[in-house]
Amino acid sequence: MNTKCCYKNCENEATTTGLVFARHKETGKDVPTPVQACDKHKGVDGFFESDTNTQGEM
Ligand SMILES: [Zn+2]
Repeated sequence: MNTKCCYKNCENEATTTGLVFARHKETGKDVPTPVQACDKHKGVDGFFESDTNTQGEM
């Protein structure tokens, strides 16, 4: 199963998972929102890649 990149107008296959900070419309605060991104979009400003492969490596 292929997961599409979450960025608008992007049809690329997502290659990584990360977070963007979206402005909450009620509180006005930036809240982290999980998104999928392709190779191109994982490098854009405002995207923070979450390396799930290393979680649990304490
Ligand atoms: Zn993309």
